[in-house]
Amino acid sequence: MSLEYIDKLKELAYNLWWTWNPEGKKLFRMIDPILWDELRENSIKILQRTDRLNEILKRREFLNEVEYVYLVFRSYLDTPGPYFQKIRKPMAFFSPEYGLHHTLYIYAGGLGLLAGDILKEASDLNLPMVGIGFMYPQGYVRQKIKADGWQEDLQNHIKKEDMPVQKVYENGDWLKVYCYCFDELVYAGVWEVSVGRVKLYLLDTDVEENPPWHREISYQLYTPDQEMRLKQQIVLGFGGMFLLKKLGIDICGVHVNEDYPALALVARLIQFVEEGEDFDSAVSQVRETSLFTTHTPLRSAINTYPFHIVENQFRFLWEKFGIDKEKFLDLGTNSQNPSEGFNSTILAMRLSKYTNTVSQKHQEVAKKQWHFLWSDRSLKDVPIDYVTNGVHLPTWIDEDLRNLLNDHLGSRWLEVHDSENLWELIDLIPDEKFWEIHYKNKQELCHLIKERLRKRWTEKNLDSSLVIAEGAFLDHDFLTIGFARRMTGYKRATLIFEDLERLKRILKDPERPVQIIFAGKAHPQDHEGKEMIQKIINIARNPDFAGRIAFIEDYDQELAYYLVKGVDVWLNNPIPPLEACGTSGMKAGINGVIHLSIMDGWWIEGYNGKNGWAFGDYEVDDDRNPKDAEAIYEILENEVIPLYYYWDETGIPRKWVKKMKEAIKSIAPHFCARRMLKEYISKFYTRIDAAEKELRNL
Ligand SMILES: *Cc1c(COP(=O)(O)O)cnc(C)c1O
Repeated sequence: MSLEYIDKLKELAYNLWWTWNPEGKKLFRMIDPILWDELRENSIKILQRTDRLNEILKRREFLNEVEYVYLVFRSYLDTPGPYFQKIRKPMAFFSPEYGLHHTLYIYAGGLGLLAGDILKEASDLNLPMVGIGFMYPQGYVRQKIKADGWQEDLQNHIKKEDMPVQKVYENGDWLKVYCYCFDELVYAGVWEVSVGRVKLYLLDTDVEENPPWHREISYQLYTPDQEMRLKQQIVLGFGGMFLLKKLGIDICGVHVNEDYPALALVARLIQFVEEGEDFDSAVSQVRETSLFTTHTPLRSAINTYPFHIVENQFRFLWEKFGIDKEKFLDLGTNSQNPSEGFNSTILAMRLSKYTNTVSQKHQEVAKKQWHFLWSDRSLKDVPIDYVTNGVHLPTWIDEDLRNLLNDHLGSRWLEVHDSENLWELIDLIPDEKFWEIHYKNKQELCHLIKERLRKRWTEKNLDSSLVIAEGAFLDHDFLTIGFARRMTGYKRATLIFEDLERLKRILKDPERPVQIIFAGKAHPQDHEGKEMIQKIINIARNPDFAGRIAFIEDYDQELAYYLVKGVDVWLNNPIPPLEACGTSGMKAGINGVIHLSIMDGWWIEGYNGKNGWAFGDYEVDDDRNPKDAEAIYEILENEVIPLYYYWDETGIPRKWVKKMKEAIKSIAPHFCARRMLKEYISKFYTRIDAAEKELRNL
């Protein structure tokens, strides 16, 4: 009998559905709450602890809970959702990284988290979608701060058997696909990740059929080795398309997430040509059924390769396509600056009828940036659309807040959470309840930080000043500012240190103390990012700042979840217009954490005068650094601090809570993944699906 329960538990553990449904989390926690925390909420590892499992399987109430949760889960899977028939065939979503859960460590930052949120939302809407990505056996680097404040990049050796991934089998053997990289055959094993109703397939070159130099292809996310990157692109694009064919998944089109998977479109060209189309008609069919999303205006994010490398790899194609070399290379050539090499973004744009950016402002920037590709058109007619990002609400909202909303918005509120009217009901919820939850979140964050620190202190002989710099003196009663994102130049993590004396006065005010919590990794090659971290650490450990600044190591999805709900203010001050969208501020907003942000990315659309603070909506000038920092100090001194410390006799900062409600109300319905995905569907997917239908009927 218990076997049947174990099977159910396993099925639940291997489907990420549990990560965004409180019933699921609660079930795994029941097995052993302390162990669950110790294993960092790893559903696979906890089931490997058969001692605990056998124990709990003797308890009737646990068995009942398994039955109940399994029933909820099955009914989720088996009930056709609202978007079941919006498109006839699945959309293939290709992305170099996916941030689905911290135990599946195959993401670096915002791009991956967004891809993860898209798959989850596709599952909730029951939109036919299949994801393709990479299994990185080493994941992304882990961060450790050394005594001198410098970031150490730790190689990660992920144990795949501890992750919610399963091999795909074909006739009893692990399914492998292959493709050619520079005339050599490269194999990739296929892993499956279940994201609710959606399947994500991950390609893994670390298989015995490959020689060591090919096994390494998928080791690392964003390797600096250019040839290796091209090989990754080849495996992702060619291997991915081959896999879909092999699995018999008949897709309506391809959604290319940033330029890394651009070669999927070339692989599709080959498929059409092999079906008998000539090159031009294949190009037109691929174009009609492809969407490319660009996520940043930064040039460094564009993958370019010397022509001779590309030529070497794709020689076999010209003959196959019946075209000359130039015609192929033209697909990825910037005619204004051919010397930059073969450009994956240009390739993706030329092979996709639809291109979109990730916010309205980013659209404006991208139109200027890429105008030369459509030089016969006026700027406003450059065919680049936009869909502003959103975050998967059930993933990012605090559980207690979710329960509070269950009580006040009606039990089915989640099903219509992108409706603006729904959120008006928030005003009817007593302030005390909001504050209670928020206060608990602040406590939890401080607790988590200190417990991690305690562990490091006992285990690793931590430099004692680092203990202070990493948050030992944090106090959950103080006004707390959060700043967590990738540490890289344009995000300006150290902007607030522009005037240290003024900052000191703000933080150390004995009656109205303020503290700042930072987190974020620098890419191993990003020296400037590492310098920023060192600067933060050195200021944080300086007694003059009284322990009111903290830098938390090893930012990941788990820490992000606690941070975006456990601080009071979310600070965002990139150099405009370089933050194409930004999503961490949305995660904060849906939890009532108030955004203090420069006017860039999504905040230009999100700010309504009442739901947070904004600065920097002036024309660009030369020395805007000091001006931006000054704007932050002024807003803090004149608005944020007085508002937070205005407590009435009931012991609640009522005006603050009013702003929290305003933030949730205005941000949740508009900046959720549901609104975003529905826009992708109506603007692109349904058109692609219709075009595919027409092409197939010819
Ligand atoms: C949301 C998120 C990001 C992206 O944050 P931005 O504000 O867009 O830079 C990066 N990393 C993690 C772990 C996240 O959860």
